Amino acid sequence: MAKMTPSTLRIGYRYRPGRLAESYDAVVIGSGMGGLTTAAMLSDLGWKVCVLEQHYTAGGYTHSYERNGYEWDVGVHYIGDVGTSTRTRKMFDYLSDGKLDWAPMDNEYDRFYIGDKVFNAKAGRREFRDNLLRQFPDEEQAIDEYLALLKSAGNAMSSFGMSRALGSWQQKLMSPYLKWKTPDLLFRLTYDVLAELTDDQDLIAVICGQWGDMGLPPKQSTFLVHAMIARHYMYGGYYPVGGSWRIADSIIPKIQAAGGEVFTYARVKNVVVENGKVTGVAMQDGRVIQCPCVVSSAGVANTFQKLLPTEVAAKAGYESKLETVDPSSAHLGVYIGLKSSAEELGLPKTNFWIYPNNDFDAAVQRFNEDSEQPFPVVYISFPSAKDPDYAKRHPGTATIEIVAPAPYKWFEKWQDETWGKRGEDYDAFKQKLGERLMTYLYDKLPELRGKVDYYEVSTPLSTNWFGGYQRGELYGLSHTPDRMQQKWLRPKTSIPGLWLTGQDILTAGVTGAMMAGMLTTTSIVGMRKIAPLMKRIYS
Ligand SMILES: Cc1cc2nc3c(=O)[nH]c(=O)nc-3n(C[C@H](O)[C@H](O)[C@H](O)COP(=O)(O)OP(=O)(O)OC[C@H]3O[C@@H](n4cnc5c(N)ncnc54)[C@H](O)[C@@H]3O)c2cc1C
Repeated sequence: MAKMTPSTLRIGYRYRPGRLAESYDAVVIGSGMGGLTTAAMLSDLGWKVCVLEQHYTAGGYTHSYERNGYEWDVGVHYIGDVGTSTRTRKMFDYLSDGKLDWAPMDNEYDRFYIGDKVFNAKAGRREFRDNLLRQFPDEEQAIDEYLALLKSAGNAMSSFGMSRALGSWQQKLMSPYLKWKTPDLLFRLTYDVLAELTDDQDLIAVICGQWGDMGLPPKQSTFLVHAMIARHYMYGGYYPVGGSWRIADSIIPKIQAAGGEVFTYARVKNVVVENGKVTGVAMQDGRVIQCPCVVSSAGVANTFQKLLPTEVAAKAGYESKLETVDPSSAHLGVYIGLKSSAEELGLPKTNFWIYPNNDFDAAVQRFNEDSEQPFPVVYISFPSAKDPDYAKRHPGTATIEIVAPAPYKWFEKWQDETWGKRGEDYDAFKQKLGERLMTYLYDKLPELRGKVDYYEVSTPLSTNWFGGYQRGELYGLSHTPDRMQQKWLRPKTSIPGLWLTGQDILTAGVTGAMMAGMLTTTSIVGMRKIAPLMKRIYS
């Protein structure tokens, strides 16, 4: 891969009314993984698709940005299940025409610092089991029962996913079968399920050590999503070679090849509804793009509260349905640049998860009430170490990213201010939080003191500003048991011509959003048309 200029990272085509085609078969709002997957699959089926992205670059949470000669990802640190020819890998290969490569992380891809103890997640089912057993020799039965639960959860997941692609009458018809395939256990709290297997709180903590991947600690999250994540990373973590922006970069040509386009700086103001049916979208500049099929990947809260006329959302019942779900937590990001290569600095291809103790839920609660309390989790990732291409693009430098939760309410008073001009008190608060997070890095890697050249901090307001998430939510909707049982969270809405996709339909994660894109396409074109394509993808 060639050495890049800053503009290389800005992918997509800048929106101008004159650049629009005369007509499109579908308009997709948002160019994240959900939107791009839907657009690419429809394109492959011969549809001309217009993707409209409000940000300056395409990719949603998979985009990367560059500053001061460094390059960071905003929402991708590792992807699982792509090391061999799995269904996930085949889907990525299909979308990217095989142009997306994956670099394996270290065998110990996640490291959990829980109080003063250290545990590692090892790649491979047997390795995972043996490693846990070595650390918890009296817990063999609990560990094996847990692995058996993960296996049965895996069998249930495709039925759960499939149920989302069905219309409401089909869901009713299939209901006994789906209930049989998705046992109640999946919708119980993660902690409750694990507490029936063991009393060892350290073992429960290690098993839940990746809770940050869905943003909810084990006494609030559903076991279904816990199991999805645990299975997803069971065979290790992988990083997209070239950086996370390469994901969108490698998918967009498929959309363009069918005559479609991905436009950036293209904010949709609202979805146009006439006589109860969707007829297109109105852009921020006043232009209306007529189209009878509109897919929103902008998140369900945005879609029903911001993009649809209020009376339409209320009449269709979405206003009250939204009351049954909550936004996921918000986060801080620290983007760090160092003037030596990852190799010279000895940075690992392992993510660090740092917890004050093994009671994750109590730590979250304490912190939410008092920002001076220790962070309930601090996640540290080393992208330039994971990416074998980074040194070619940015020789002699390295990057580190830190992610930690932070409630949106702490930042609410600045929410109407412009990015970069929120005032000294905001900058000072942000700086203080950033400095605190840097101490976690120096605590684990003291040799980095004095080597950091630059760092900057993002807050939940950055997520709101760049991604449009109203409460700065990290993962769309919160993954509670209630949310996972909302049958209206599916691609087909009750408003003819309006479809949903992205992380709110299934689960968060790049793969979750990708699978949602596949379900949305299935829902739009129907089983008969999707079947040959799926056969081609999975052959
Ligand atoms: C800090 C962080 C770390 C993460 N780490 C990982 C990880 O390591 N591995 C993993 O698998 N997942 C990770 N995730 C989650 C993953 O990135 C997301 O779940 C997934 O990418 C979401 O895809 P999406 O298409 O649903 O939404 P998005 O990527 O958010 O796309 C929605 C798009 O809609 C656009 N939009 C909104 N409103 C409008 C409008 N009115 N007009 C036009 N466009 C609009 C937004 O700008 C955005 O680009 C992480 C997320 C975060 C925030």
